[in-house]
Amino acid sequence: MSTETTAATNAKAIDYGLDNWRKLHIDQQPTWAEHPDYAPTIAELNALPPLVFAGEVDAMRSQLAEVAEGNAFLLQGGDCAETFEGATADKISGRVKTLLQMAAVLTYGASMPVVKMGRMAGQFSKPRSSDMETRGEVTLPSFRGETVNGYDFTPEARAHDPKRMLRGYHTSASTLNLIRAFTKGGFADLRSVHAWNRGFTDNPNHARYEQTAREIGRALKFMEACGVDFSALKTTDLYTGHEALVLDYERALTRIDSRTDLPYDTSAHFLWIGERTRGLEDAHVDFLSKVRNPIGVKLGPTTTAEDAIALINKLDPNREPGRLTFITRMGAGMIREKLPAIVEGVQREGAKVVWVTDPMHGNTISVPSGYKTRRFNDVMDEVRGFFEVHEALGSFPGGIHVEMTGDDVAECLGGSDPVNEEEFADRYESLCDPRLNHAQSLEIAFLVSEYLKGRRGTK
Ligand code: PEP
Ligand code: MN
Repeated sequence: MSTETTAATNAKAIDYGLDNWRKLHIDQQPTWAEHPDYAPTIAELNALPPLVFAGEVDAMRSQLAEVAEGNAFLLQGGDCAETFEGATADKISGRVKTLLQMAAVLTYGASMPVVKMGRMAGQFSKPRSSDMETRGEVTLPSFRGETVNGYDFTPEARAHDPKRMLRGYHTSASTLNLIRAFTKGGFADLRSVHAWNRGFTDNPNHARYEQTAREIGRALKFMEACGVDFSALKTTDLYTGHEALVLDYERALTRIDSRTDLPYDTSAHFLWIGERTRGLEDAHVDFLSKVRNPIGVKLGPTTTAEDAIALINKLDPNREPGRLTFITRMGAGMIREKLPAIVEGVQREGAKVVWVTDPMHGNTISVPSGYKTRRFNDVMDEVRGFFEVHEALGSFPGGIHVEMTGDDVAECLGGSDPVNEEEFADRYESLCDPRLNHAQSLEIAFLVSEYLKGRRGTK
């Protein structure tokens, strides 16, 4: 990474336009610019080492290019909002384990490599529909994720505190350290991952997935019998990604790489722009257009084909496969109606993006008890709609983006081993959106694997 002098680095930042966003309209930001800790915190973040390295970011972009070409599939999953307290060894290993289990099943279904990415090690800031939250007589700033403020409903906790960005950085560093250890240290061995999945399919509620699990087991035995070198299957790459929301943080972690002389946002391998901050002339799109990382944009049901094309022109002017991922989150009732025009528009433009479904954010409902939840069947219906639309238009359904955890929480309703509303009182843990629990996550992977197999069959 860069060994440039500060003055030279600053000059390059100006050349690359890394601070243009400061002149533009920006939504969903903390109000901490006048805070006495603001400037020292930014200075400290500027001096900290990168969390990810430019070479890894480039490798991920190349793998995403394979997804754009229809030769690999992308799995992205993790918490809606990570928490500092939740960054424990048990919870991180549970999430990594679940992602690896899902990836093994998807690899089999797709007969393709699966690019794995956690919504992990940096997913600490949240856009909100309202700046303020009222409970009874009291109105306070909304919770915006732990790099901005605290969840407790007190004036102290809800105050925007720039120093929280440092805790976000250090928590991301320790999470990433564990992810690297787990994925490189033997934990990711495909044979153990398959054995864990047998635990899932041995549950009579999941009997319908047993056949697929048996087929994977046979494939592994076949490889072993052929003398395949399993050492290659003992380690894997698990990339990190989060919503690039708080631009003070993203800008402070952006570095000019000494090898390529180009800017990389080193807070994560992949950054995405949320549905609420994708305005074409706004700060988030401008800032992310300047960094070399692969970029995602969430597209909700109001997106037009023109919007999508304008985003491509701004974020991927060189039409570089792997650079841009569109993460559609239309809702089960809208996907079949809204997605085709967007895909056709992008096809007419001759652009190659990665198409990913986020079947979570268009399917959030509130139940009378006050909890936000999602029905497993709605989630699956959106996934099915996504596959149908891409199948009909000849585009490649490149991946799935889910909010999930490795724990046995009760936050989303349904699944074969169904979660009911009565269980929320004891096992609803998310501070933000409801996540699929361990079993629901695996079930999605088995179902998507079946679609992918079907797709292969029709080729
Ligand atoms: C999210 O991914 O948690 C999120 C807020 O998504 P969206 O921008 O699609 O609403
Ligand atoms: Mn969410």
